Amino acid sequence: MTFQPPKGTDDLMAPQSQAWREVLSLWDDWSGRYGFPLVMTPVLESTELFRRGVGDTTEVVTKQMYTFEDRGGRSVTLRPEGTAGVVRAYLNSGHQGAWKGAYSGPFFRYERPQGGRRRQFWQVGVEYLDVEGPAADAEVVELGYRYLESAGVPNLELLINSLGDSECRPGYVAVLRDYLRGKEAELGEDSIGLIDVNPLRVLDSKPDQPVLVDAPRMVDNLCDACSRHFEAVKTLVEGLGVPFTEDHGLVRGLDYYTRTTFEYVGRQLDTAQNAVGGGGRYDGLAETLGGRPTPGVGFALGIDRIVLSVGELDRPYLEAYLVSETGPEDALQVASRLRRDGVNVDFDSEGRSVKAQFRAARRIDVAVTLVWKGEGEPIDVQTKGGRQDVPLEEVSDWFKERT
Ligand code: AMP
Repeated sequence: MTFQPPKGTDDLMAPQSQAWREVLSLWDDWSGRYGFPLVMTPVLESTELFRRGVGDTTEVVTKQMYTFEDRGGRSVTLRPEGTAGVVRAYLNSGHQGAWKGAYSGPFFRYERPQGGRRRQFWQVGVEYLDVEGPAADAEVVELGYRYLESAGVPNLELLINSLGDSECRPGYVAVLRDYLRGKEAELGEDSIGLIDVNPLRVLDSKPDQPVLVDAPRMVDNLCDACSRHFEAVKTLVEGLGVPFTEDHGLVRGLDYYTRTTFEYVGRQLDTAQNAVGGGGRYDGLAETLGGRPTPGVGFALGIDRIVLSVGELDRPYLEAYLVSETGPEDALQVASRLRRDGVNVDFDSEGRSVKAQFRAARRIDVAVTLVWKGEGEPIDVQTKGGRQDVPLEEVSDWFKERT
Protein backbone atom coordinates (compact mmCIF):
# COMPACT_ATOMS: atom_id res chain seq x y z
CA MET A 1 0.00 0.00 0.00
CA THR A 2 1.23 3.53 -0.72
CA PHE A 3 0.07 6.84 0.66
CA GLN A 4 0.10 10.24 -0.97
CA PRO A 5 0.85 13.40 1.00
CA PRO A 6 -2.33 15.36 1.84
CA LYS A 7 -3.63 17.65 -0.90
CA GLY A 8 -1.69 20.90 -1.08
CA THR A 9 1.36 19.51 0.77
CA ASP A 10 4.62 18.29 -0.71
CA ASP A 11 7.51 15.95 -0.14
CA LEU A 12 10.74 17.68 -0.80
CA MET A 13 14.14 16.08 -1.26
CA ALA A 14 17.48 16.64 -2.94
CA PRO A 15 18.22 18.11 -5.36
CA GLN A 16 15.16 20.43 -5.05
CA SER A 17 15.57 20.75 -1.30
CA GLN A 18 19.05 22.23 -1.84
CA ALA A 19 17.58 25.55 -2.93
CA TRP A 20 15.48 25.55 0.25
CA ARG A 21 18.48 24.88 2.41
CA GLU A 22 20.38 27.76 0.86
CA VAL A 23 17.50 30.21 1.02
CA LEU A 24 16.79 29.28 4.65
CA SER A 25 20.41 29.54 5.71
CA LEU A 26 20.64 32.91 3.99
CA TRP A 27 17.65 33.94 6.08
CA ASP A 28 19.42 32.97 9.32
CA ASP A 29 22.36 35.02 8.16
CA TRP A 30 20.44 38.20 7.21
CA SER A 31 18.01 38.18 10.14
CA GLY A 32 20.93 37.66 12.52
CA ARG A 33 22.86 40.49 10.93
CA TYR A 34 19.97 42.89 11.66
CA GLY A 35 19.94 41.80 15.29
CA PHE A 36 16.92 39.48 15.24
CA PRO A 37 17.49 36.36 17.37
CA LEU A 38 15.39 33.27 16.79
CA VAL A 39 11.93 33.02 18.36
CA MET A 40 10.12 29.67 18.28
CA THR A 41 6.44 29.32 19.09
CA PRO A 42 4.13 26.29 18.83
CA VAL A 43 2.73 25.22 15.48
CA LEU A 44 -0.53 24.64 17.34
CA GLU A 45 -2.28 27.51 19.15
CA SER A 46 -5.68 28.08 20.69
CA THR A 47 -8.19 28.97 17.99
CA GLU A 48 -9.23 32.10 19.85
CA LEU A 49 -5.74 33.61 19.39
CA PHE A 50 -6.21 33.81 15.62
CA ARG A 51 -9.89 34.75 15.77
CA ARG A 52 -8.99 37.77 17.85
CA GLY A 53 -5.55 38.47 16.46
CA VAL A 54 -6.01 37.96 12.74
CA GLY A 55 -9.66 39.05 12.73
CA ASP A 56 -13.00 37.26 12.64
CA THR A 57 -13.99 38.54 9.21
CA THR A 58 -10.73 37.81 7.40
CA GLU A 59 -10.64 35.07 4.83
CA VAL A 60 -7.83 33.37 6.71
CA VAL A 61 -10.03 32.94 9.78
CA THR A 62 -13.41 32.32 8.11
CA LYS A 63 -12.28 29.92 5.40
CA GLN A 64 -8.71 28.76 5.73
CA MET A 65 -7.90 27.57 9.22
CA TYR A 66 -7.16 23.97 10.15
CA THR A 67 -9.18 23.94 13.35
CA PHE A 68 -10.06 20.92 15.45
CA GLU A 69 -10.82 19.83 18.97
CA ASP A 70 -7.99 18.11 20.80
CA ARG A 71 -8.66 15.14 23.05
CA GLY A 72 -9.20 17.48 25.97
CA GLY A 73 -12.03 19.26 24.15
CA ARG A 74 -10.03 22.46 23.47
CA SER A 75 -10.35 24.12 20.10
CA VAL A 76 -6.90 24.38 18.56
CA THR A 77 -5.67 25.61 15.17
CA LEU A 78 -2.57 24.93 13.09
CA ARG A 79 -1.00 28.38 12.83
CA PRO A 80 -1.99 30.18 9.61
CA GLU A 81 0.44 33.06 10.26
CA GLY A 82 3.23 33.95 12.66
CA THR A 83 2.58 37.34 14.21
CA ALA A 84 -0.22 36.50 16.65
CA GLY A 85 1.79 33.66 18.21
CA VAL A 86 4.97 35.72 18.55
CA VAL A 87 3.13 38.67 20.11
CA ARG A 88 1.43 36.25 22.50
CA ALA A 89 4.84 34.81 23.44
CA TYR A 90 6.30 38.28 23.96
CA LEU A 91 3.43 39.32 26.22
CA ASN A 92 3.74 36.12 28.25
CA SER A 93 7.50 36.53 28.62
CA GLY A 94 7.10 39.65 30.72
CA HIS A 95 9.84 41.35 28.68
CA GLN A 96 9.77 45.14 28.87
CA GLY A 97 10.87 47.42 26.10
CA ALA A 98 12.08 46.96 22.55
CA TRP A 99 12.32 43.33 21.50
CA LYS A 100 13.26 41.56 18.27
CA GLY A 101 12.48 38.04 17.10
CA ALA A 102 12.91 36.13 13.82
CA TYR A 103 11.04 32.95 12.96
CA SER A 104 11.08 30.28 10.31
CA GLY A 105 8.73 27.35 9.94
CA PRO A 106 5.66 25.70 8.42
CA PHE A 107 2.26 27.39 8.32
CA PHE A 108 -1.12 26.03 7.27
CA ARG A 109 -4.05 27.42 5.31
CA TYR A 110 -6.85 25.50 3.70
CA GLU A 111 -6.62 27.13 0.27
CA ARG A 112 -7.16 25.94 -3.28
CA PRO A 113 -3.72 24.54 -4.09
CA GLN A 114 -1.93 25.86 -7.17
CA GLY A 115 1.55 26.99 -8.11
CA GLY A 116 2.87 29.10 -5.25
CA ARG A 117 -0.19 28.41 -3.11
CA ARG A 118 0.02 25.38 -0.84
CA ARG A 119 -1.89 24.19 2.20
CA GLN A 120 1.35 23.73 4.11
CA PHE A 121 3.85 26.43 3.25
CA TRP A 122 6.98 27.86 4.82
CA GLN A 123 7.33 31.39 6.08
CA VAL A 124 10.24 33.28 7.56
CA GLY A 125 9.61 36.58 9.25
CA VAL A 126 10.48 39.07 11.94
CA GLU A 127 8.60 40.93 14.62
CA TYR A 128 10.02 44.10 16.18
CA LEU A 129 7.97 44.93 19.28
CA ASP A 130 7.49 47.88 21.57
CA VAL A 131 8.91 50.28 19.01
CA GLU A 132 6.97 53.25 17.76
CA GLY A 133 9.22 55.37 15.59
CA PRO A 134 9.52 55.23 11.80
CA ALA A 135 13.15 54.05 11.96
CA ALA A 136 11.89 50.63 13.11
CA ASP A 137 9.56 50.39 10.09
CA ALA A 138 12.41 51.37 7.77
CA GLU A 139 14.83 48.88 9.32
CA VAL A 140 12.34 46.03 8.96
CA VAL A 141 11.39 47.00 5.40
CA GLU A 142 15.06 47.14 4.47
CA LEU A 143 15.88 43.74 5.97
CA GLY A 144 13.19 42.04 3.89
CA TYR A 145 14.34 43.78 0.76
CA ARG A 146 18.05 43.05 1.23
CA TYR A 147 17.35 39.42 2.01
CA LEU A 148 15.15 38.90 -1.05
CA GLU A 149 17.66 40.73 -3.20
CA SER A 150 20.52 38.56 -2.02
CA ALA A 151 18.41 35.40 -2.44
CA GLY A 152 18.18 36.46 -6.08
CA VAL A 153 14.42 37.05 -6.50
CA PRO A 154 14.20 38.50 -10.01
CA ASN A 155 12.33 41.75 -10.74
CA LEU A 156 11.85 42.47 -7.06
CA GLU A 157 9.54 45.37 -6.23
CA LEU A 158 8.55 46.92 -2.93
CA LEU A 159 5.10 48.46 -2.49
CA ILE A 160 4.33 50.70 0.48
CA ASN A 161 1.12 52.18 1.85
CA SER A 162 -0.30 53.52 5.10
CA LEU A 163 -3.57 52.28 6.58
CA GLY A 164 -3.88 54.93 9.28
CA ASP A 165 -4.66 54.14 12.90
CA SER A 166 -7.57 54.06 15.35
CA GLU A 167 -7.65 57.88 15.13
CA CYS A 168 -8.17 58.30 11.40
CA ARG A 169 -9.14 54.93 10.00
CA PRO A 170 -12.75 54.76 11.29
CA GLY A 171 -13.57 58.04 9.52
CA TYR A 172 -12.00 56.79 6.31
CA VAL A 173 -13.79 53.44 6.54
CA ALA A 174 -17.13 55.29 6.80
CA VAL A 175 -16.33 57.40 3.71
CA LEU A 176 -15.20 54.31 1.80
CA ARG A 177 -18.31 52.38 2.81
CA ASP A 178 -20.57 55.15 1.48
CA TYR A 179 -18.65 55.21 -1.76
CA LEU A 180 -18.88 51.42 -2.17
CA ARG A 181 -22.63 51.40 -1.44
CA GLY A 182 -23.04 53.81 -4.33
CA LYS A 183 -21.18 51.37 -6.58
CA GLU A 184 -22.99 48.19 -5.60
CA ALA A 185 -24.42 47.70 -9.07
CA GLU A 186 -20.90 47.44 -10.51
CA LEU A 187 -19.21 45.40 -7.77
CA GLY A 188 -18.87 41.62 -7.59
CA GLU A 189 -20.76 39.54 -5.06
CA ASP A 190 -17.76 38.96 -2.79
CA SER A 191 -17.06 42.68 -2.58
CA ILE A 192 -20.69 43.53 -1.82
CA GLY A 193 -20.59 41.03 1.07
CA LEU A 194 -17.57 42.87 2.49
CA ILE A 195 -18.99 46.41 2.41
CA ASP A 196 -20.57 46.10 5.84
CA VAL A 197 -18.09 43.83 7.58
CA ASN A 198 -14.73 44.98 6.20
CA PRO A 199 -14.87 47.54 3.36
CA LEU A 200 -11.08 47.96 3.29
CA ARG A 201 -10.77 44.43 1.99
CA VAL A 202 -12.81 45.39 -1.08
CA LEU A 203 -9.78 47.42 -2.19
CA ASP A 204 -7.94 44.11 -2.48
CA SER A 205 -10.42 42.67 -4.99
CA LYS A 206 -8.68 41.96 -8.28
CA PRO A 207 -11.81 41.79 -10.50
CA ASP A 208 -13.24 45.03 -9.09
CA GLN A 209 -10.17 47.19 -9.67
CA PRO A 210 -11.81 49.14 -12.55
CA VAL A 211 -14.64 50.21 -10.21
CA LEU A 212 -12.17 51.24 -7.54
CA VAL A 213 -9.96 53.67 -9.44
CA ASP A 214 -11.82 56.67 -8.03
CA ALA A 215 -12.41 55.23 -4.56
CA PRO A 216 -11.42 57.51 -1.66
CA ARG A 217 -7.86 56.79 -0.55
CA MET A 218 -6.60 56.23 2.98
CA VAL A 219 -3.53 58.39 2.26
CA ASP A 220 -5.80 61.39 1.71
CA ASN A 221 -7.53 60.80 5.04
CA LEU A 222 -4.58 60.21 7.37
CA CYS A 223 -4.47 62.14 10.64
CA ASP A 224 -1.43 64.37 11.20
CA ALA A 225 0.49 61.83 13.28
CA CYS A 226 -0.04 59.02 10.74
CA SER A 227 0.81 61.31 7.88
CA ARG A 228 4.08 62.38 9.53
CA HIS A 229 4.93 58.76 10.31
CA PHE A 230 4.29 57.70 6.71
CA GLU A 231 6.37 60.53 5.26
CA ALA A 232 9.22 59.72 7.65
CA VAL A 233 9.18 56.01 6.76
CA LYS A 234 9.34 56.80 3.06
CA THR A 235 12.19 59.26 3.53
CA LEU A 236 14.16 56.77 5.63
CA VAL A 237 13.63 53.87 3.22
CA GLU A 238 14.68 56.07 0.35
CA GLY A 239 17.75 57.15 2.30
CA LEU A 240 18.70 53.48 2.67
CA GLY A 241 18.72 53.20 -1.10
CA VAL A 242 15.79 50.79 -1.21
CA PRO A 243 13.54 51.52 -4.20
CA PHE A 244 9.76 51.39 -3.64
CA THR A 245 6.44 52.39 -5.15
CA GLU A 246 3.50 53.77 -3.22
CA ASP A 247 0.45 51.57 -3.71
CA HIS A 248 -2.67 53.12 -2.21
CA GLY A 249 -4.74 50.01 -2.74
CA LEU A 250 -2.45 47.83 -0.66
CA VAL A 251 -4.48 46.71 2.38
CA ARG A 252 -3.24 43.13 3.06
CA GLY A 253 -5.50 40.33 4.17
CA LEU A 254 -5.05 40.41 7.93
CA ASP A 255 -6.96 42.84 10.16
CA TYR A 256 -4.22 43.83 12.57
CA TYR A 257 -2.31 46.25 10.37
CA THR A 258 -2.11 49.96 11.23
CA ARG A 259 -0.08 52.71 9.58
CA THR A 260 2.71 51.25 7.42
CA THR A 261 1.91 48.25 5.22
CA PHE A 262 4.21 46.89 2.56
CA GLU A 263 4.55 44.03 0.15
CA TYR A 264 7.46 42.51 -1.76
CA VAL A 265 6.51 41.42 -5.25
CA GLY A 266 8.49 39.19 -7.61
CA ARG A 267 7.17 40.41 -10.95
CA GLN A 268 8.47 37.31 -12.66
CA LEU A 269 5.98 35.09 -10.83
CA ASP A 270 2.53 34.36 -12.17
CA THR A 271 0.31 37.40 -11.39
CA ALA A 272 -2.10 35.78 -8.92
CA GLN A 273 0.79 34.59 -6.75
CA ASN A 274 3.47 37.18 -7.23
CA ALA A 275 3.63 38.45 -3.65
CA VAL A 276 6.70 36.90 -2.07
CA GLY A 277 6.01 38.54 1.25
CA GLY A 278 4.55 41.42 3.13
CA GLY A 279 4.06 43.04 6.45
CA GLY A 280 3.40 46.19 8.31
CA ARG A 281 2.73 47.85 11.62
CA TYR A 282 0.24 46.40 14.08
CA ASP A 283 0.15 48.87 16.96
CA GLY A 284 -3.21 47.63 18.31
CA LEU A 285 -2.59 43.88 18.16
CA ALA A 286 -1.14 43.34 21.64
CA GLU A 287 -4.17 45.01 23.23
CA THR A 288 -6.54 42.98 21.06
CA LEU A 289 -4.86 39.92 22.56
CA GLY A 290 -5.44 41.21 26.08
CA GLY A 291 -1.93 42.57 26.66
CA ARG A 292 -0.58 46.00 27.47
CA PRO A 293 -0.35 48.47 24.56
CA THR A 294 2.68 47.39 22.51
CA PRO A 295 3.32 48.88 19.09
CA GLY A 296 5.14 46.64 16.65
CA VAL A 297 6.15 46.06 13.07
CA GLY A 298 7.09 42.95 11.13
CA PHE A 299 6.81 40.93 7.95
CA ALA A 300 6.44 37.39 6.65
CA LEU A 301 8.04 36.03 3.50
CA GLY A 302 6.91 32.90 1.66
CA ILE A 303 9.82 30.54 1.08
CA ASP A 304 7.86 28.39 -1.41
CA ARG A 305 7.46 31.41 -3.68
CA ILE A 306 11.00 32.62 -3.15
CA VAL A 307 12.35 29.25 -4.25
CA LEU A 308 9.95 29.22 -7.21
CA SER A 309 11.14 32.59 -8.37
CA VAL A 310 14.83 31.93 -7.78
CA GLY A 311 14.63 28.62 -9.64
CA GLU A 312 16.34 25.38 -8.78
CA LEU A 313 19.99 25.30 -7.92
CA ASP A 314 21.96 23.11 -10.22
CA ARG A 315 24.73 22.94 -7.67
CA PRO A 316 25.08 19.41 -6.22
CA TYR A 317 24.56 19.01 -2.50
CA LEU A 318 27.97 17.38 -2.07
CA GLU A 319 31.36 18.94 -2.64
CA ALA A 320 33.29 15.70 -2.84
CA TYR A 321 32.83 11.95 -3.15
CA LEU A 322 35.29 9.55 -1.60
CA VAL A 323 36.11 6.42 -3.58
CA SER A 324 37.84 3.76 -1.48
CA GLU A 325 40.06 1.10 -3.01
CA THR A 326 40.31 -0.67 0.37
CA GLY A 327 36.68 -1.07 1.37
CA PRO A 328 34.03 0.86 3.26
CA GLU A 329 35.53 0.54 6.78
CA ASP A 330 38.59 2.53 5.71
CA ALA A 331 36.37 4.98 3.82
CA LEU A 332 34.41 5.54 7.05
CA GLN A 333 37.60 6.51 8.90
CA VAL A 334 38.94 8.71 6.12
CA ALA A 335 35.60 10.46 5.60
CA SER A 336 35.35 11.08 9.34
CA ARG A 337 38.76 12.78 9.33
CA LEU A 338 37.84 14.92 6.30
CA ARG A 339 34.45 15.88 7.73
CA ARG A 340 35.98 16.97 11.02
CA ASP A 341 38.35 19.10 8.96
CA GLY A 342 35.34 20.77 7.34
CA VAL A 343 35.10 18.90 4.03
CA ASN A 344 31.65 18.13 2.66
CA VAL A 345 32.04 14.52 1.53
CA ASP A 346 30.17 11.24 1.20
CA PHE A 347 31.10 7.65 0.33
CA ASP A 348 29.63 4.24 -0.35
CA SER A 349 29.18 2.19 2.79
CA GLU A 350 28.09 -1.00 1.03
CA GLY A 351 31.46 -2.12 -0.35
CA ARG A 352 30.60 -1.72 -4.00
CA SER A 353 33.28 -1.99 -6.70
CA VAL A 354 35.58 0.95 -7.40
CA LYS A 355 33.87 1.35 -10.76
CA ALA A 356 30.44 1.53 -9.10
CA GLN A 357 31.77 4.12 -6.62
CA PHE A 358 32.96 6.32 -9.50
CA ARG A 359 29.54 5.93 -11.10
CA ALA A 360 27.90 7.14 -7.87
CA ALA A 361 30.19 10.20 -7.83
CA ARG A 362 29.19 11.02 -11.41
CA ARG A 363 25.50 10.59 -10.62
CA ILE A 364 25.70 13.18 -7.84
CA ASP A 365 27.78 15.34 -10.17
CA VAL A 366 30.37 16.24 -7.53
CA ALA A 367 33.17 18.60 -8.51
CA VAL A 368 35.83 16.59 -6.71
CA THR A 369 36.42 12.86 -6.41
CA LEU A 370 38.88 11.75 -3.72
CA VAL A 371 40.44 8.33 -4.23
CA TRP A 372 41.72 6.54 -1.13
CA LYS A 373 44.38 4.01 -2.09
CA GLY A 374 45.50 2.79 1.31
CA GLU A 375 47.36 3.65 4.50
CA GLY A 376 50.44 5.83 3.92
CA GLU A 377 49.37 6.70 0.38
CA PRO A 378 48.34 10.24 -0.57
CA ILE A 379 44.78 10.92 -1.67
CA ASP A 380 44.34 11.03 -5.42
CA VAL A 381 42.33 14.22 -5.87
CA GLN A 382 40.44 14.24 -9.18
CA THR A 383 38.64 17.20 -10.75
CA LYS A 384 37.56 18.12 -14.26
CA GLY A 385 40.84 20.03 -14.53
CA GLY A 386 43.05 17.04 -13.73
CA ARG A 387 44.39 15.03 -10.79
CA GLN A 388 46.96 15.47 -8.08
CA ASP A 389 48.28 13.68 -5.01
CA VAL A 390 47.51 15.38 -1.70
CA PRO A 391 48.37 13.94 1.75
CA LEU A 392 45.20 13.20 3.76
CA GLU A 393 45.97 15.84 6.40
CA GLU A 394 46.31 18.52 3.69
CA VAL A 395 43.10 17.77 1.81
CA SER A 396 41.00 20.28 3.75
CA ASP A 397 43.56 23.03 3.01
CA TRP A 398 43.44 22.03 -0.64
CA PHE A 399 39.65 22.67 -0.56
CA LYS A 400 40.12 26.01 1.20
CA GLU A 401 42.64 27.19 -1.36
CA ARG A 402 40.36 26.10 -4.13
CA THR A 403 37.51 28.42 -3.16
P1 AMP B 1 0.52 36.70 4.46
O1 AMP B 1 0.77 36.06 5.80
O2 AMP B 1 -0.80 36.29 3.87
O3 AMP B 1 0.78 38.16 4.44
O4 AMP B 1 1.59 36.03 3.48
C1 AMP B 1 2.93 36.39 3.45
C2 AMP B 1 3.60 35.57 2.37
O5 AMP B 1 3.53 34.19 2.70
C3 AMP B 1 2.95 35.67 1.01
O6 AMP B 1 3.43 36.78 0.31
C4 AMP B 1 3.36 34.37 0.37
O7 AMP B 1 4.66 34.47 -0.17
C5 AMP B 1 3.38 33.43 1.52
N1 AMP B 1 2.13 32.64 1.55
C6 AMP B 1 0.96 32.96 2.16
N2 AMP B 1 0.06 31.98 1.98
C7 AMP B 1 0.65 31.02 1.24
C8 AMP B 1 0.25 29.75 0.71
N3 AMP B 1 -0.96 29.26 0.92
N4 AMP B 1 1.14 29.04 -0.02
C9 AMP B 1 2.39 29.52 -0.23
N5 AMP B 1 2.83 30.69 0.23
C10 AMP B 1 1.98 31.44 0.96
